[in-house]
Order: sequence, then structure tokens, then C-alpha cells
Amino acid sequence: MDEYKIKHIEEGLTQIEFPEFDKVSSDAPVFYNPHMEMNRDLSILAIQVFQKEQDREINICDLFGGSGIRGVRYKNEIDGVGEVSINDISETANHYERHNIKLNNLSDVEVYQHDASMFLRMKRGEFDVIDIDPFGTPSPFLDSAGYCARRNSLLCVTATDTSALCGTYQEPCIRKYNSKPYKSEYCHENGIRILAGFVALTLSKYAKFIEVKMSHSTEHYMRLYLEIKKGSKKTDESLKNIGYISHCKHCLHRQTSSGLAGPIDDVCPVCGEKLVHAGPLWLGSIQDNDFIEKMIDETNYKKINTEKQALKLLNSCLVEADAPATFYDVHSICKSLKVSAPKFDLILDELKNDGFIAVKTHFSPIGIKTDAEIEDIKKILIKLNENI
Ligand code: SAH
Repeated sequence: MDEYKIKHIEEGLTQIEFPEFDKVSSDAPVFYNPHMEMNRDLSILAIQVFQKEQDREINICDLFGGSGIRGVRYKNEIDGVGEVSINDISETANHYERHNIKLNNLSDVEVYQHDASMFLRMKRGEFDVIDIDPFGTPSPFLDSAGYCARRNSLLCVTATDTSALCGTYQEPCIRKYNSKPYKSEYCHENGIRILAGFVALTLSKYAKFIEVKMSHSTEHYMRLYLEIKKGSKKTDESLKNIGYISHCKHCLHRQTSSGLAGPIDDVCPVCGEKLVHAGPLWLGSIQDNDFIEKMIDETNYKKINTEKQALKLLNSCLVEADAPATFYDVHSICKSLKVSAPKFDLILDELKNDGFIAVKTHFSPIGIKTDAEIEDIKKILIKLNENI
């Protein structure tokens, strides 16, 4: 490692050092991505909320350590943490993980060099929190996570293969997540739902089910915080959240259908054109108000550099927590109607005046989550255009 200069950074209350490199890529000697700082900050908040809810000491597994930044920060910045295990298949990564543990004067943090799935299986049932933050898809490791996760534990999952989950090409998503994506204006939400659905189906064989505590799609990654519960009856019940989202390219209507093999309409009930389907995916809730409120409150007690950006995201997730699946892109609808886009807040007000839920979404600055049907929205857009 002598040929590299050492870079020193500070995140939260933690110091981290790693060999300097030009470009963020998996070819770097030790992986560190500055664009993921908010992801790590939110993880600190989420794991702290989880620890407080459990009201016990928690053991954490940082499965893909890299520089060790997650595991080291978790031990250094979260209260009530017992042992932290940092794993990475790379010896060089292990070297810097040990270095960073020392740099922050931490005890009870162990470093391991194993394949991620092997490591989880060796340590089955030992962790209260498993953080899966690989480079690319988490898909190959989720079965071992499902097998090894304890009852009432927290599973944190990052996916950076968003083009697969969003359906830029269908094949990679079908291959990795056994689900058909659809590249719509709300494809990032579909992507999160495909990932959550895949975790739920993977865990179900071990009679485990998920409760989504918080989820977000930011820049080029998606992140899920899932509480893992156990029980075959409840798992059966939970799988009713698996289903499909059907979309009409012609009039922009969309609808959901529950069940893995339930009946699905092929024809749009609004305009009679053919519907396209995405799924199987998670139709259940993807945000938990109570958990997110606690994460927001936790920002009062933690030092996080991305506080402003994190709070903006958390507040947006909070607002959209009770809204239905999918959202409407105002510009797409206006384009299809050949009218100009009215002021965003006016549209929200009109929808609310008509008795609908209407909220913004973190997925898109021009997206509206609402229980109104496409025809209701179109009427409002036309009416507002008449007043322009
Ligand atoms: N979580 C880190 C980034 C990890 S990058 C952060 O927040 O900065 C992915 C890491 O996974 C790399 O260090 C790589 O060496 C390691 N890795 C790749 N394949 C692996 C496998 N099968 N098992 C364990 N580690 C693996």
C-alpha cells in the first residue's frame, strides 16, 4: 500500500483513513464513496431508533466493510451497541478496517475476512442488525441474510443497481430480483417495491417476514430499513402484500392487484388500451410514520454533516407515508393533454379541495401521490389551465 497517499476524512464523530484514489469504483484499493455519506448518516439515525425501541444492547454486522466506515461509525456514534463485526473478503480492506478501529480507540469491534454469505451462516442468529451495503446488487446475499436474521432484528439493504430495478433493461431485473420492472415515471418507487418484494419472498421460506421502517431512492442507490419478524401464519398473511402494479401507457391510469398469482386485468378500465404489468413487488407500506418521526427527533442528538439534506428527505418520506402506491408526474400528464403545467401547489390544493389525499414525494420533485384517479387529475389540470 506504500504507493498510495493516505486520505483522512471525518464523518459524524468518526475519523477514517484509506488509500487515496482518483475515481469512485470497485477497482479502488479500498472502497470509499463520499456520495454515500447521507446514507451512512441515516443508518446511524435508524439503528439508534431501533436500539431505543428494543431497549437492549445490540450487536451489529457490517457485512461489506470496505474502509470499515459503517461498522466503526456505528460503534462510535450509536448508544447501546455491544459487539460490531466488520467483514470484507479483501485483505487490504481488513487492514484499513483494523487501522480505523484503532484510530477511533474502539474496543469490541472485530474484523473478519470471509465471503459475505459464508460469514452470515457462520454467525447465524448472532446479530441484531445486519447491514448489507455491497457494491452493486445485494441479491446474492439475501438468502443467507434471511436464514441468519434473528427475530426482531433490523436488516438494512442498499442496492446500487438502480437501472436494473427501474427497468432500463428488463433482463437484469428478472435475473437478479425475479421480477418484471417497468420503466415509468414512477420507476424508482417500483424499484424499491421490487427490492422489498424480493426480500419478503426470499425470507418467507424461513417463515420470516418484513416490516418496512423506512426506504428511499437517492441519486444512484436505493436503501431499505426492514424489521424482521418470525412466524409462519404471519408470514402467510404478510405475503398478501406481494402483487403487481399495472400501467396504461395510453391514458396513464395505473392499478394494483394483490397476490402472487391473482387475477390481473389486461385491459385499461379507463380507456380500453392494453395494460403493462410490473412485479411481483411489495404493495404494502414502504414508510413507517412513527419510526421516521423518531429518526427526525434523533437528529437533535447526533452530529451528522448531512443534517439539512437528511431532514428534507425524512420529512418528505413522512408526508408520503400514508399515501397510496405510485405517483403522478404532472409534466407527463400535461404533455399528454397538450396543456401547460399549472403551479404545483395549486394542483395539490385543488386535489385536496376535492377531498383527495395529495402529497409530494421524495421520488420526484414533480410527482404527486394521490388517491385521485387519472381522470380526476386531468379534469383539475384542464380547469387550472382555463384560469391561466
Ligand atoms: N459498505 C462500504 C462499502 C463497501 S464496497 C461503505 O459504506 O463504504 C464493497 C466491499 O465488498 C468491497 O470492499 C469488497 O472487497 C467487498 N466484497 C466484495 N464481494 C464480497 C463478498 N462476496 N463477500 C464479502 N465482501 C465482499
